[in-house]
Amino acid sequence: MQWYKKTTDETMNAFQTSQTHGLTAVEASEKRQAEGDNVIHEGEVSSRLQTFLLQFKDFMVLVLIAATLVSGLLGEYIDALAILAIILLNGCLGYIQERKAEKSLASLKALSAPQTLVLRDGAWEKVPSLELVTGDIIRLQSGDRVGADCRLLTADRLQVDESALTGESLPVDKTTAALLADELSLGDQENMSFMGTLITRGSGTAVVTATGMQTAMGTIADLIQSSASITTPLQRKLEELGKILIVAALGLTFIVVLLGIWQGHELYTMVLAGVSLAVAAIPEGLPAIVTVALALGVQRMIRRNAIIRKLPAVETLGCTSVICSDKTGTLTKNEMTVQRLWAGGEEWQVSGSGYAPKGSFHIPGSPDTEVDARHAPQLQQLLTFGALCNHADIQLDESGQYKLQGDPTDGALLAVASKAGIDRKGLLDDFTVVQEFPFDSQRKMMSVIVQNKKNELFVITKGAPDFISQRCNRRIHNGRIQRMGTTETRQMADVVDQMADDALRTLAVAYKKLVSIDEAKDIERVESELVLVGVAGMIDPPREGVRESIDACRDAGIRTVMITGDHAKTAAAIAGQLGMRRANGRILEGRQLDQMSAEELATDIDHIDVFARVSPTHKLRIVQAYQKRGHVCAMTGDGVNDAPAIKAADIGISMGKTGTDVAREASDLILTDDRFETIQAAVKEGRNIYENVRKFIRYLLASNVGEILVMLFAMLAGLPLPLVPIQILWVNLVTDGLPALALGMDQPEDEVMRRKPRPLKEGIFSRGLAWKIISRGFLIGAASLLAFWLTLNESGELIEAQTVAFLTLVMAQLIHVFDCRSDHSIFHRNPFQNMFLVAAVLLSFLMVLVVVYVPGLQTIFHTVPIGWREWLLVLGMAAIPTFLLSIFHFQSGAKQLQRRKPGVALK
Ligand code: ATP
Repeated sequence: MQWYKKTTDETMNAFQTSQTHGLTAVEASEKRQAEGDNVIHEGEVSSRLQTFLLQFKDFMVLVLIAATLVSGLLGEYIDALAILAIILLNGCLGYIQERKAEKSLASLKALSAPQTLVLRDGAWEKVPSLELVTGDIIRLQSGDRVGADCRLLTADRLQVDESALTGESLPVDKTTAALLADELSLGDQENMSFMGTLITRGSGTAVVTATGMQTAMGTIADLIQSSASITTPLQRKLEELGKILIVAALGLTFIVVLLGIWQGHELYTMVLAGVSLAVAAIPEGLPAIVTVALALGVQRMIRRNAIIRKLPAVETLGCTSVICSDKTGTLTKNEMTVQRLWAGGEEWQVSGSGYAPKGSFHIPGSPDTEVDARHAPQLQQLLTFGALCNHADIQLDESGQYKLQGDPTDGALLAVASKAGIDRKGLLDDFTVVQEFPFDSQRKMMSVIVQNKKNELFVITKGAPDFISQRCNRRIHNGRIQRMGTTETRQMADVVDQMADDALRTLAVAYKKLVSIDEAKDIERVESELVLVGVAGMIDPPREGVRESIDACRDAGIRTVMITGDHAKTAAAIAGQLGMRRANGRILEGRQLDQMSAEELATDIDHIDVFARVSPTHKLRIVQAYQKRGHVCAMTGDGVNDAPAIKAADIGISMGKTGTDVAREASDLILTDDRFETIQAAVKEGRNIYENVRKFIRYLLASNVGEILVMLFAMLAGLPLPLVPIQILWVNLVTDGLPALALGMDQPEDEVMRRKPRPLKEGIFSRGLAWKIISRGFLIGAASLLAFWLTLNESGELIEAQTVAFLTLVMAQLIHVFDCRSDHSIFHRNPFQNMFLVAAVLLSFLMVLVVVYVPGLQTIFHTVPIGWREWLLVLGMAAIPTFLLSIFHFQSGAKQLQRRKPGVALK
């Protein structure tokens, strides 16, 4: 269907929809049933069976299966079946873990998917773009990614970047009139907009004409490469490490086997023991558990309103050393109330809060002298122009609350006008808005052209006072228009400074008469030679809890810097209230930044607390300067122009509520509540996830070292085999998986936010981890062997000694797992804080008891029941590694504490 040939009415009729009402919810859901979700199908994801089979692709597992089959053929049926059962069980666990990780990552993708503003049942609502159906009326705004193919109904300076579809790099201007040509290419269909393209400017409405695979993008879906799943640096590092460990484990296993054969053990027994040992000791599950730990952490972040879009960001988050935060809406509430007004040489204070039309005007300093706005023409003019040059709407909802739709700055101006009985809807009876030049943070102003009943045209402009004053050559003073020179500009600047010192956000209003609409073509001309009307000062209070979060970040060695388009003094006042100013900290304005070279900026940047009057383009330079100084920089943003800086930042953060699709797509982290505290929570979680990964690496590797060493020592000492293959595999299964997973869910240590940020390049084994792994592993192996030797000497029963060695190994690992929770000693943390771990350990304990005490299983696992005296030996030996080293740690920790100078905090 060539919709571009149809008029807007014909298109709407074809879909039985209307521009004022849209589809009904029922129609939309029926259509969705029929048309399916509005998504492009990417290549098939791996099937369940494939995922399951992949669990067995590991080379050593295949060798083990082969060896087991051989032992089965040799008549060792029970051993063979039991080993196969364990391999299968292991595979199932791996499968469950992998599916869990996949699922949570998929749900994450859905959460961060684009959304579209759609008209249903006469009301605008934001829905995930995948719910769009044909006939939906949608709104397109600068920064949106178009959710479906659509025919434009209105277009206000609408410009779309269609390069994703047509390869054309320049944005295309859009229109709404029907086009009559035949066979227009996509790029020439100026009244259409296509799924996946990007609105770079302006706004418009449209009716959806195709969804999902029916869209232009859908028809070329095969050409779109589905993005490869991203692995994090940590995962890659661990894969590398895994390879080294495989070689080491194989090498050691080989030595064990050779020694065993040399000591006179049967070849067949030693080969099976060797292969089992290799399977148990090779940490092939490590990357999988890391993925699960990352995915679980990401789920916890979602509960804290932080959506991670790119998995590697989880690791980088923990390294963040500076957070650059937008002021409005993130640090402050973004609930604006006009408190002061200045016009024509007079000043007023305004009472009332929120968007209700309740409040009055007073002379400053005399709250009892109420001013009737009807008798103050200059005040009235300021309020009228503020309400006309406006894009917001305030409505009373069912609960009796005044609700704002649109920009809070505009809302504050509507609210203050309503306190003087001036209503935008009433004004629109007398004035028609002919054209609008929307606000953008580069120009820092917005203009409208209005026409009155006498067909006279006026420009009304409002924006940042220092920017507006440059465009004014006259002002209204004492009811007369007069020239505006340096003195008059200074006068206004003084008023603005006073307001800003009181943390008010300021905005100036100006106007001029136009001779003809032709003058409206050039925005530069429109916004020049204006007449200044007055200034409004509005309060936007800091959010509760932000100050505490900033303090918490400071304790964690992270600096928070404010980035704002606002006046330097307003920004400084708010920064002061939030405790962000340092004694020698500076404020840098955008125009000063323009004068500095990249080197100068990088040299100075550590001394700057606030960047004021900056535009989004400055943000990129700020990020680069921090990076030059070696910082790991997080940067927030919400607009289209913020995207480059968000992309360049180590952690790009976008806003879920107010942000554009473009900003969200560029970001690593989305704050669904737009709050600063969420960044702090995410950093904390990021640090915790990393620590948890270190915890289970420590646990798994120490266990593996213990398993190898007990066999190696036995062979070196010319002793019989302390563990039989099936026991080794059982240790691997019961003690490795579940407790490691539970460590991945551990809560952060209190001090996790009292440490300096971790350097980005820090190795996984730094801060003494390698030593901990080797020392614990060594002691676990030695303790198990000692228990084996003592029992063998005393009872002379090999099978009993093996049972004791088996139990000592398991118990030592189950005690050691609690030690892994802290960088300090085992006594440092309450073990019952992590009930998953307690449950996992109890379950593992139960599983070893089963194989020792259930008669049928004893034959399979080569065990005998042991009495309380042996248990005392087992527990005593098992406790040695952890407690011995904990005491050592405790002492060295105390010494360190004594040596540390008092009162040195991380700042
Ligand atoms: P942030 O702190 O998140 O960067 P900001 O609100 O401080 O946001 P901008 O939105 O760029 O920064 O606003 C800069 C200045 O532009 C404001 O101080 C105000 O004077 C002016 N301004 C803001 N919103 C509007 C608007 N809707 N219309 C006209 N002028 C505006």
